[in-house]
Order: sequence, then C-alpha cells, then structure tokens
Amino acid sequence: MILTISNTTVPATDLGFLLHKHPDKIHTFDLAVGKAHVFYPEASESRTTVGLLLEVDPIDMVRGGGRNLAGRGFSLGQYVNDRPYVASSFTSVALSKAFSTAMNGSCKNRPELVDQRLALEVQISVLPAPRGGETLIRKFFEPLGYHVDVEPHILDKNFPQWGNSKHFTVKLKNTVKLSELLTHLYVLIPSLDNDKHYFVSQDEVDKLLARGAGWLREHPAKDQIVSRYLINLRSIARQAIEQLTEQAVGTEPEGNVEPPEVKERRVGLHQQRLDLAVEKLVASGATSVIDLGCGEGKLVRQLIKHRQFNRITAMDVSYTELSKAKQFLHWDEMAPRQRERLDIFQGALTYRDDRLSGYDAAALIEVIEHLDEDRLQALERVVFEFAKPKTLVLSTPNSEYNALFDNMQEGSLRHDDHRFEWTRAEFESWASMVSEKNKYTVEFFAIGEIHETVGAPSQMGVFTRGD
Ligand code: SAH
Repeated sequence: MILTISNTTVPATDLGFLLHKHPDKIHTFDLAVGKAHVFYPEASESRTTVGLLLEVDPIDMVRGGGRNLAGRGFSLGQYVNDRPYVASSFTSVALSKAFSTAMNGSCKNRPELVDQRLALEVQISVLPAPRGGETLIRKFFEPLGYHVDVEPHILDKNFPQWGNSKHFTVKLKNTVKLSELLTHLYVLIPSLDNDKHYFVSQDEVDKLLARGAGWLREHPAKDQIVSRYLINLRSIARQAIEQLTEQAVGTEPEGNVEPPEVKERRVGLHQQRLDLAVEKLVASGATSVIDLGCGEGKLVRQLIKHRQFNRITAMDVSYTELSKAKQFLHWDEMAPRQRERLDIFQGALTYRDDRLSGYDAAALIEVIEHLDEDRLQALERVVFEFAKPKTLVLSTPNSEYNALFDNMQEGSLRHDDHRFEWTRAEFESWASMVSEKNKYTVEFFAIGEIHETVGAPSQMGVFTRGD
C-alpha cells in the first residue's frame, strides 16, 4: 500500500519540517503487523512529496505473537486477503505513528508553519470503498473542500461482465493545514474501507472524537462515517453519534445510515427470521428437524428449547461454521440426554445425501442466496426430491427492500458472499415452480417491518409436502 502527500506551496520543502522527517532519509517504523517506510520521491522548492509505504505481513496478521487477528471464518481469507495492498485501518495506524506530531498540530522548530494552509495533494493507490464506491468517496471528502478524482478499476480484464472492483485510485487536492488533512485521512480511510478493524478497542471512540474534533460534527455524512468507522462496534457507534450530536441517550440517529448488515442487526431482523421459523416448525407438529446450512447454530439453539423436537440435526458445508456451532451450543459440555437429541454433521446441499432424509421438517434460513444458479438447481433436487421433509421453512432477502438502505449501490448485494437476491415476485415464482414440480404447496410470509411499496426486508416460504 502506498500513499503520497505532495505540497506545492512554495517553499514546498516545508513539508519536511512539518512532518519532522528529513527529505534525505528513509524512515522505517515497526507496526504490529508489519512495517511502514517514509521517504521523499521528490523534494524541491516548488513541489515536495512524501510517500508512506506500508508493508503488511498477512501471515503475521493471523499468527504473529499470539495476536488474534484472524479473518471471518474463511480460512484461506486469513492468508490471502487484500490487506497488504489497500489503504485501510492499518494506514491510519501507520499515519498516526509516522506523523503523530504533525497530526497533533505541533512543530517544534517552525511553530508558525502549523497553522499555515498549504496546497496539498494526496494520492492513495488503492482505496477500498465497498457499498458506496465513488459516490461515497465524494460524499466523504468533498464537504471538507477536497477536489476529488476517482479512478475505478475493472475486476478482471478478461471478464468485463464482472464489472468494477470495490477498489479505487484516489487523488485529493485541497488547501488545508497539514494536521487537518492527516486527521481527515485517519478517520475517512478506515471508514470507507468498512472492513474489520484490526485495532478496534474500547478507546476507539475517543480516538475518533479526538481526530474528528473540529470537522466531524459539521460533516453532513457524519453518521455514516462514524457507523462505518466503528463497523464492528455498533453500540459504540451509536454512543459516538450521540456524543457528536448531543442527542438524548437511547434515541436513534436520524436517517438510514448504517450498512445493511448493521441495520439488520439493529432491527433484530435475523432474530425475527429465526422466531418465525421456530413458530412454523412448531406449528407443523414435526418431532424431527434438520437445519440445512445451520451456520453457527442460532436456530438449533432455539429449537433445543422445544421438547416437541426429539431429533434435531445441524448441517453445514463449512467446518469453521460447524465448529463455531459446537462452541455456541456448548456441545462438549452438553448433558448426555440433551446431546442424544442433537446431531451435527458436515455436508453439501448440492449433493444427494441420505443423511438428509427421514426428517419431518427442515429449515433453509438465508442459505439459497449463497449458491450460484446452477448449484441452486442441484439444491432443489437434493432438498425437494430426495430429502423430502414434510415441512420446509426457507428464507431469503427481499431485494426490493435494498432501495431503503441509503448506502447500497444500485444493483449491489447485502453480503459479499451473496450470489443473488430476489424480489418478492422472483422468490414467489421460483418457490411456486419448485413446489409444483415436487408436489409441495407453499405459503409466503414477510419478515421484518413492512414498507408500503418495497415490502419487508426478508421473506419466507413455508413448504408443505402434498402427500
Ligand atoms: N442458517 C444460518 C446461516 C446462514 S449463512 C443462519 O440463518 O444463521 C449461510 C450458510 O450456508 C453458511 O453457514 C454456509 O456455510 C452455508 N452453505 C452455503 N452453501 C452451502 C452448501 N452448498 N451446503 C451446505 N451449506 C452451505
């Protein structure tokens, strides 16, 4: 990852004084997950440029020194990820480490320089901005006076139909104090990146408020900036927004600003899905049930509470999810009588498997949208033709509702791993087609708050076998 800052206010070499880094030297800093190098590709009276080169070791990120920085349950993702190449929270850490004095607005030798507004240019080689892209980059930087130049990148030149990637090359120009520019970058880069922060901790709010002092409160997109910056800390994000806006505790920030997953968490949408699934499974009178694509076992945990079910099975394709499920369900410490009711196994819904048959009921909660269309056809046969539960509860997002998520780009999906998301009509037509083919009947239910025109955020089909 490389980021450069150029000064064109004469004498441009003042940049070296402000940064406390001599232009003739290369300066290297150790970071928790690699190294940062500061150097000057050019240093003249008319233009001086400082470069920040970040070397992130992706293996060390996962393994190093007992740090637990592993990715999101996708084991290859722990080693093969974009972190070494993109501007992210690591960049903020590096900026604050390499340029802390300048960021804090002090300059021992030339204090008069601190308040001087300089004609500065920033180039960020690769800036990820998922769920928002160029619009979001402009929305974040332009209100602060930046002239923004964004270059998108096609995902793969050999497959133009895949479209653009979430990565952009960004050039920013503004006449500002260097300390302001550094704090803008410190806050806005991780906020745009919107990925897991490897340095998130409870004092993150304080850092955000300190770095955002003097500009974040007035920023028109402040709620969105804060929510994305604190992506994994929703409650803390709310607290930060409250502190910034001095809202009464407990009131929701205005507007529809959170990323969809965060929003889903806020409205407890997933819980509503699970509740409806349990309600329908109980009502079906089933005594045996299998959760297909169980993930970390949230539905199974609820099913266990119902004595009606004397045989509950959790299956998933992912070992990582299954081991999480075992932990979540306290499998190892489970009383023998409880454990007798429960079975957990690994399998794929795209291959015929006798272990899936013989259940009164099955659940497929937020699973189908993870399969490519041709794989979905295999799943249809595996579930409806071979496993053949008497009752099947199946849920999937309603794509029409995406329009209400402020920061979702047209045509984008709620999760990176989704292969498709259907409108209500698309889901209903697929479900009716599958039912007809396999002698099932189907009833549809909305999950979550129902909006007049776009419906509810999620939808469920309850399938009942005809014979
Ligand atoms: N049903 C869970 C998890 C939903 S996430 C819940 O509602 O919380 C989707 C899950 O489907 C993931 O755990 C993923 O591993 C699983 N999955 C995706 N493709 C699968 C396949 N072909 N066979 C079995 N499970 C699959």
